[in-house]
Amino acid sequence: EARTLGECAKIASDNNIGTVACMFTDTWGIPRGKRLPLDQFLRGAGFSMAGVAFSWTPRSDILPTPWAEMDSEFRDMNLVPDLNSFRVAGWTEGLAVVMCDAIDPVSHEAIPMDARGMVKKSLAEFADAGYSVNMAPELEFHLFNDDWSPVSDQTLCYSMDRADELETVIGGIREALRRSGIDCEASNVEYGQSQVEINLRYGEALASLDETILFRHITKAVARKHGYHATFMVKPINGGAGSGMHIHQSLVDGSGENAFARVDDPSHPVTSQVMRDYVAGLLTHQLELQAIAMPTLTSYKRAEDYSFAPTQVCWGLDNRLVGVRCLTGIGPGTRVEVRWGAADANPYLLAQGYLQAGLAGMREHYTLQNISSGDPHADTSLRRVALSLESAVDTFSASPFARRVYGDMFVDTFTKMQHDEMAAFAAHVTDWEFKRYADIF
Ligand code: GLU
Ligand code: MG
Ligand code: MG
Repeated sequence: EARTLGECAKIASDNNIGTVACMFTDTWGIPRGKRLPLDQFLRGAGFSMAGVAFSWTPRSDILPTPWAEMDSEFRDMNLVPDLNSFRVAGWTEGLAVVMCDAIDPVSHEAIPMDARGMVKKSLAEFADAGYSVNMAPELEFHLFNDDWSPVSDQTLCYSMDRADELETVIGGIREALRRSGIDCEASNVEYGQSQVEINLRYGEALASLDETILFRHITKAVARKHGYHATFMVKPINGGAGSGMHIHQSLVDGSGENAFARVDDPSHPVTSQVMRDYVAGLLTHQLELQAIAMPTLTSYKRAEDYSFAPTQVCWGLDNRLVGVRCLTGIGPGTRVEVRWGAADANPYLLAQGYLQAGLAGMREHYTLQNISSGDPHADTSLRRVALSLESAVDTFSASPFARRVYGDMFVDTFTKMQHDEMAAFAAHVTDWEFKRYADIF
């Protein structure tokens, strides 16, 4: 049931809220928006901002959004708060936060670049098919001191001494999550030097994706308050570990049962037909979705064998070397953990790909390839993921599946943004090149 403005006003007055952070995410998944005084927010009109905010490149060039380009204007878009997502912003006193939908002021439709809007439509398709979707994200990140030096020189996964040393900041993040109504399941020191992981409890997919965006925002905000930097850049330390964004997924049917826990074929390691189809869909479209799962030049430095980041198209049971890990035989907790995503991915775009790939598998009953057990990296029969952004973007741009799932306007804009990004990098002489060549040539 949709929440009303009156209910938001009640939450606001109970929690001394004076300001509402109205947030959407750009194509990269970076939070953008405006802060509204509470009384302005409660007037209910939403607000508008320049549509260029969607297509941004880190070198701060602004591309006109394509729907603006078409009539050669830099049009505004309307940001309409989704009141169901209104919550106390537990990292700042007196602040609430709400996620917004980006609406075209002329057509009153969701803007084709709005990834959250795409996910809403996909979830409606699942609802028509009789399912709701649960998701849970696991994110890794790196923590640096104020001067960007690593917080530790060593690596010791799950170190309790290090966790104790970092408790002020990591405990602060857990507490800010709690006060924002986001259930944190655990935090731990990860494999890499200076690397941390935090897991969030599963929930309805859209809410869970909103929480993923807020999680990255909160983590960076709390780290800054304590004199640290947190970054979801995938590999900030050369030779170190990459950071992933694993997303656990399951389907709930009309009777409230986990459809992935069904037993249609007791002899198969994945007993549920729906789950087999969903996984087959994921694997069939994996390479077409890779530019979304690994959207920056640095994302590709994570794809190393034996790093626990996936490098092949394969699935398995409880095996961290596979990209699609099926956690089965655990009743209501039965789920698939898709490990393709890098920590810098846009969770909405990623989920849009997962949902539509899964749905295609369910509708078409794709054939599920054989299970990988043991060491998939040693299995030369498996397809490998693309090792460069360029090749992944070419595949994405040429994929009829991607064009159906994201729309031509999105695919063309995304491709252009990525080509600009690659051109900027190609024109730059890196430190590595200087060190390698300056003296010897
Ligand atoms: N850091 C790995 C990745 O990038 C995951 C390690 C783990 O299994 O927790 O996906
Ligand atoms: Mg991990
Ligand atoms: Mg995981």
